[in-house]
Amino acid sequence: MSPTRSTSDARSATGRRSGSGGGSRAGSDREASSGSRDGGRAYDAGPFLPSRGGLAAHRRAAADCRGCPLHEDATQTVFGAGPESARILLVGEQPGDQEDRQGEPFVGPAGRLLRRAAEEAGIDMDEAYVTNAVKHFKFVRPPGGGKRRIHKAPELREVAACHPWLSAELRLVHPEIVVALGATAGKALLGSSFRVTKDRGALLPLPGDEDQNGRPHVVATLHPSAVLRADDREGAYAGLVADLRVAAEALAGGGGTGS
Ligand code: SF4
Repeated sequence: MSPTRSTSDARSATGRRSGSGGGSRAGSDREASSGSRDGGRAYDAGPFLPSRGGLAAHRRAAADCRGCPLHEDATQTVFGAGPESARILLVGEQPGDQEDRQGEPFVGPAGRLLRRAAEEAGIDMDEAYVTNAVKHFKFVRPPGGGKRRIHKAPELREVAACHPWLSAELRLVHPEIVVALGATAGKALLGSSFRVTKDRGALLPLPGDEDQNGRPHVVATLHPSAVLRADDREGAYAGLVADLRVAAEALAGGGGTGS
C-alpha cells in the first residue's frame, strides 16, 4: 500500500464518487453519490443522511436507512458507538448476530476478543469509537432451512452504498487514528488494492480531501473474527495485539494527524 495513494484512487476503488475518509462531507456524499444499481434501483445511503446535526442525529436517521437491501432481513441498523471526542476510531466489517439483536457494535464474541486485545495493546476501549463499514447484518440461512443465521460478507456495492454513514462518523468524531479491522474495512478506507497481509501494522495516511485540521492515519489489522477462526489462534491474536500496539503508540505520540 503506497502511503501516497491518491484520493481518486481510493474513491474509485469502492465505486463511489464522493465520501472518502475523514475529510469528506456528508452533504457532498448525498449530492454526488450515485451508489450502484440493481435493476435500476440505486444502492446509496446518501439520501438518508441528515443535512445537519451530530452523531445522535445521524444515529437516529440511520435507523431508517433503506439505502440498500440489507435492511430488509436485519433486525435493526447498528450505528457506531463511543464518545464523539474519541481520539481513536475502529472500523469493522458489519454487525454480527449479537450486534444485530442488541443494536450495538462489537458486543459479540469478536467484540470481546477485540476489547481484550486492544486493552493489552494499550488502547482504552471506553475512550474509543467503534463502528462498521456496513451498518446492517448480512446473513444467509443454512441449506435446507433452519433458524441459524450465517454471516455473509457484504458486496462491494453494499459497502459503497453505506460509505456516507462511515464518512459522516469520521467527519464528526475526527479521530487521530483509525483502525481498519479486516479486508472490508481496509478497502472501504484505503481502496480496493488494500490487502490485510500486505498492509497491516503500518501507519498509513487516510485518503481524503485536504483538511486544514489534518486527517487521521490508519492502521490495518485482522478482523477479530478471523482470529477466532484461525488454526493458530494464539499466533493470530498476538499479531492483532502487535498491530493495535502500532495504533496505541501513534496515539501516545500525538496521533498520526497531519496531511
Ligand atoms: S447497510 Fe447501510 S446503506 Fe444499506 S440499508 Fe443498512 S445503513 Fe443503509
